Amino acid sequence: MQVRNNLQRIQEQMKQSCEKANREMKDLTVIAVTKYVDLDRMKEAFEAGLEHIGESKVQDAKGKWEALNGQGIWHFIGHLQTNKVKDMIDKFAYIHSLDRISLAKEIEKRASVLGKIVDCFVQVNISGEDTKHGLSPNEVEKFILELKSYPHVRAIGLMTMAPYEQEPEKTRPIFRQLKELQLNLQRNKFDHAPLTELSMGMSNDFHIAIEEGATFVRLGSSLVGE
Ligand SMILES: *Cc1c(COP(=O)(O)O)cnc(C)c1O
Repeated sequence: MQVRNNLQRIQEQMKQSCEKANREMKDLTVIAVTKYVDLDRMKEAFEAGLEHIGESKVQDAKGKWEALNGQGIWHFIGHLQTNKVKDMIDKFAYIHSLDRISLAKEIEKRASVLGKIVDCFVQVNISGEDTKHGLSPNEVEKFILELKSYPHVRAIGLMTMAPYEQEPEKTRPIFRQLKELQLNLQRNKFDHAPLTELSMGMSNDFHIAIEEGATFVRLGSSLVGE
């Protein structure tokens, strides 16, 4: 597994998607999802020029973060238990799985002590699969209004996961709906919630997600391995 080669191949695909959609590479951030891999592979990712790290379990991430002296910019992408916030809040710059007010409240409590504003994505369950976390699309506006009470939680965007499809093209409607939801919400011009970002697209479907407006893609198996 050579992360550098994978990244090169992925960047070629990203360029093609950008051309198709008339977008620019500079508006995209690749998150290397390292939840399946060890420290050596993470170091290889840094050497290849990757900066953004995605982890989905607090306990695993904590050990890795400490071993790497906090190198990189860390994104929490998994389901986040409220009682784990205190262990991760000082290590992660972004949380992609904000899906309930009790979690916002806990992030607020812990982040305010550190004087830190945490950039969060509100997770939306567009596909409606009950195995997936996230708010249903019609709950999101009210949720974002409520976030006004939590000034250390900044909703910078929306996140979704599409179901795995043999034929990635089938994920397109999911990503398109998240983009439409973002555009509708942006009409409110919430001062407390910029909502400029979309975290969507994984190894199997990132090219489609980019065509539909992703600004952060989360790549594990195709980039750093499984
Ligand atoms: C594991 C994971 C990814 C990466 O998945 P790959 O298909 O390996 O790219 C992305 N996002 C989330 C939320 C994940 O849990």
